[in-house]
Amino acid sequence: MTSFSDLGLSIPLLKAVAGAQYTAPTPIQAQAIPPALAGRDVLGIAQTGTGKTAAFALPILERLRQGTRAAPSAPRALILAPTRELAAQIGESFRLLGRAMGTRVAVVFGGVPKGRQARALAGGIDVVVATPGRLLDLMGDRALRLDRVEALVLDEADHMLDLGFIVPIRRIVQHVPAQRQTMFFSATMPKEISSLADAMLRDPARVAVTPVATTAEKVEQRVIFVAQSEKRRALARLLGGHAQGRTLVFTRTKHGADRVVKHLAEDGIAAEAIHGNKSQSQRERALTAFRSGRTRVLVATDIAARGIDVTGIDHVINFELPNVPESYVHRIGRTARAGAGGAAISLCDGAERAFLRDIERLIRGKVEAMTLPGEAMARAA
Ligand code: AMP
Repeated sequence: MTSFSDLGLSIPLLKAVAGAQYTAPTPIQAQAIPPALAGRDVLGIAQTGTGKTAAFALPILERLRQGTRAAPSAPRALILAPTRELAAQIGESFRLLGRAMGTRVAVVFGGVPKGRQARALAGGIDVVVATPGRLLDLMGDRALRLDRVEALVLDEADHMLDLGFIVPIRRIVQHVPAQRQTMFFSATMPKEISSLADAMLRDPARVAVTPVATTAEKVEQRVIFVAQSEKRRALARLLGGHAQGRTLVFTRTKHGADRVVKHLAEDGIAAEAIHGNKSQSQRERALTAFRSGRTRVLVATDIAARGIDVTGIDHVINFELPNVPESYVHRIGRTARAGAGGAAISLCDGAERAFLRDIERLIRGKVEAMTLPGEAMARAA
């Protein structure tokens, strides 16, 4: 197996990696770091949970060790991420790995007042991690310029597409010098994404890990066939059974998430919801409570869950199956981060059977049926 010291990183960064308690590089790190250190563009097919953040952060931090530091409002590295949670997460990784070097990192996203973000930028900055809308906003306010950016990262490009960010991204890229290093990461490569990659990258090193269909193999998956009206009881039963550990419950809609939290509370199970209608501080509170183990159950929608990095999620429960099969793989991948296994249980109503079939086609396998603990074979819904 490759070790970090084989990848060409300097001693300070090897120390940072050891400080983060990463013992061996993940496959995406082993493949992407050497070409990135050589200054090449990178096209990475990898989803969250593969260690891709460090795969781009370490070469960027290596670059930042050379040259000038922390100019006001003019970063040398720009990372674009689709959601505030992912942006915050990436910012944390840069801070962790760049701490000993004194790297100045700013994370900017919408939904919070701009003033503090603009002041942080004005104070001098090496790395900006941003969602596209707020970045354009700050550029419009002249709180940020991109003419000194040497390294540009686009993370979760396919998710950017889902959220309608392709046009903003193209606008942002126009402000970044053509002479730069670009790293582009996406879990999937629909046509719009590969044409965006073609427009942004120059002769990239192509690296790919765990195609979306194979991540699923590490997770023990089961389906319980149950009528929609019975799901509330089924969920309470499942959660009652796992007295330990953390469970992430997925619903299709924000209202659905709130409803599940309310019903669980009535059944004596404390849970919190995280979705797009919650304020930033509510989301952060919910995540902190979940990370610390104060709440064992977090209920989330697909969009809110992207970029949540909580280790030690033991179970994913799909209260509803997603109609996009890739979302299923992203959901269950939450239990299998950085190589650990996990379990995922889906509650499937008769009307969702078609979704289940699409999922099984994507993961190229059958999800085995189980019954609720302590019950005879559930009636087929
Ligand atoms: P990412 O795919 O970048 O979101 O990373 C997923 C998780 O894996 C994060 O919690 C990282 O801290 C962790 N991680 C990244 N690289 C390694 C590594 N080489 N060894 C162990 N954990 C890692």
